[in-house]
Amino acid sequence: MSSSPLLTVDNLSVNFGGIKALDGASLTVDKGTITALIGPNGAGKTTVFNCLTGFYKASGGDIYFDGKKSLIRVNTILGEAFSAKDFINPTQFLKKLYYKSLGGSHLVARAGIARTFQNIRLFREMSVLENLLVAQHQSVSRNLIAGILGLSSFKQKERAALENCYHWLNVLGIAEYDKRLAGELPYGVQRRLEIARALCTGPKIICLDEPAAGLNPQETADLSELILKLKNQFGLTVFIIEHDMSMVMKISDHIFVLDHGVIISNGSPDEVKKDPKVLKA
Ligand code: ATP
Repeated sequence: MSSSPLLTVDNLSVNFGGIKALDGASLTVDKGTITALIGPNGAGKTTVFNCLTGFYKASGGDIYFDGKKSLIRVNTILGEAFSAKDFINPTQFLKKLYYKSLGGSHLVARAGIARTFQNIRLFREMSVLENLLVAQHQSVSRNLIAGILGLSSFKQKERAALENCYHWLNVLGIAEYDKRLAGELPYGVQRRLEIARALCTGPKIICLDEPAAGLNPQETADLSELILKLKNQFGLTVFIIEHDMSMVMKISDHIFVLDHGVIISNGSPDEVKKDPKVLKA
C-alpha cells in the first residue's frame, strides 16, 4: 500500500459561536487508500468535509491537497474576506480574487475533490443523465457560438461527457435508470447516483458522508463491494464518514476517530477497535 499523503488536514479549528466543532483536528489520507472518519454524533465529522469542500471556512489550521509539488491551501486563507494586508501583497490579492470570483467549490472540484452528502442532494426534477451532465459543466464546452454552429470540438466534448456518464452509471450498476427523474428513484439508487455524480467530475479523492445511511443490509454489503472496487480497480482514494461499524471495519485501510472536535485515536481497524479511548467515546 502506498503511504504518500494525498490530503493533509493540519490543526483545523472551526467555531460556531461558542461551539468548537473542530478543535485542532489533524489527519492524513494516503493516496489509493480507503480512510474512514468515525465518531459519535456531533463530533465534527461533517464539519471536516465542509471545510475540505469550501462550504465552511476554518478559523484556524490548514488543508493541503495533492502532494508537495502542487501543495494548495484549499480554503482557509483564500476564503477569508479581503483585508488591508492583501493590498500590500499583490500575489495574495490575485489568488484571493481568483478564488472568490470562481467560487471556492469550483476550485475544490478543479483540485480533484468530490463529495456526497449525508442527506442526498440531487436535482430531483432533472433526469439521472442531466444530473451527471451538470456535474461536468467545467469540462463541457460552454461556447455558445461553437454550440450554435455545431463545431466538431463542441460535439466531441459533449460526446465525451455522455460517455463519461454512462461509464460511471455502468460501474454503479444504475445505467437502466438513465432517463428517469432523480427524485422518483428508489432511495438506494439515489445514493448510488450521488456517488456517480461525484465520480463524473474525475476526482482524485471522493469524500462519502454516511453513504450507507438508510440502506438495508444487502444494499450496504453491495456498497462496500463498490467502494472497494473504486479503490482496487480505479485507483481512487476514498475518504468516508460512516456510522455502520461493520462496513467501516471491513473496507478501511486506516481509521481516524473524532470526538468533540479532536482526533482521539487512529490506526488500522484492528488497532482502533482495541483502543480503550475509542470504546469509551
Ligand atoms: P453526525 O454524525 O450527527 O452527522 P458530525 O460528527 O458530522 O455529526 P457535525 O455535523 O460536524 O458533527 O457537527 C459538529 C458540531 O458543530 C455540532 O455540535 C453541530 O451542532 C455544530 N455545527 C455544525 N454545523 C453548524 C452550523 N452551520 N452552525 C452551527 N453549528 C454547527
